[in-house]
Amino acid sequence: MNLDSCNICPRNCKVNRNKGELGFCMAPNKIKIARYSLHKWEEPCISGKNGSGTIFFSCCNLRCLFCQNYDISTNNIGKEITIEEFADICLELQKNKAHNINLVTPTPYIPLIKEGLILAKEKGLKIPIVYNTSGYEKVESLKDLDGLIDVYLPDFKYYDNRLGEKFSNIKNYFEISKDALEEMIRQTGKVVIKNSLIQKGVIVRHLLLPKHVIDSKNVIKFLSKYKDKIYISIMNQYTPIRKTEKYKELNNIVEEDEYDELINYACDLGITKAFIQEGETCKESFIPDFNEFRGI
Ligand code: SF4
Repeated sequence: MNLDSCNICPRNCKVNRNKGELGFCMAPNKIKIARYSLHKWEEPCISGKNGSGTIFFSCCNLRCLFCQNYDISTNNIGKEITIEEFADICLELQKNKAHNINLVTPTPYIPLIKEGLILAKEKGLKIPIVYNTSGYEKVESLKDLDGLIDVYLPDFKYYDNRLGEKFSNIKNYFEISKDALEEMIRQTGKVVIKNSLIQKGVIVRHLLLPKHVIDSKNVIKFLSKYKDKIYISIMNQYTPIRKTEKYKELNNIVEEDEYDELINYACDLGITKAFIQEGETCKESFIPDFNEFRGI
């Protein structure tokens, strides 16, 4: 895995990022971040009382049509930083009482983040590291992080690969994400929560898309195979940020009935280790403003 012929993620672009070539994700050869701050809108065992020390990385290897963080995933807003600066940001978040370091869509930077985490740990970083990802990860790249990541927080977006092709421009989302999930579970083992805060394990997120309950039920049924080892976070916060002519169903919000149907289905499958959302979660105000770089 190197940046001279980038094969960090399953897209395998083979571009030379060290010579300024850009692959699908458009990530440069340095770590690029849009923002870091104490974030309180994650699952309670991640945000806790003080907040999660969240670092939002610019650029994304998936770039879904309905992305809520479009400014950073596709417009690539952000600032390049060195590995030393990355390590210092982790330590600054810890000093500000973050419960963990939450790396949001870190995939294009895995080798650089690995160096940064090793450095930060040498300098005294002790809080858990959360790897927060679209789920479209290469197993070999995840293996390279083995021992450095305490908590994996992957999405599992689609069961039907045709949806991955329509909305995320990939043909093999299910198979790739399934193998990645199994590697994550292998690395961390079962979820451990102490004093209401997660210490290790895997929480899988699934965002219900409007008019797609059937696919979501298939995702939840698939995830139920791992129900003794993982937590599942079933989300209804879909927000139609950009209107699309091609897939008009994405211009809606998720109806209460649709979400209830999915939650009832999860209960029927015996899923008990789960997070669900209540109230008005589909508001743009929950989405950070990336137009101005912010630290803490
Ligand atoms: S990390 Fe980016 S450049 Fe590298 S293979 Fe993935 S999409 Fe392509």
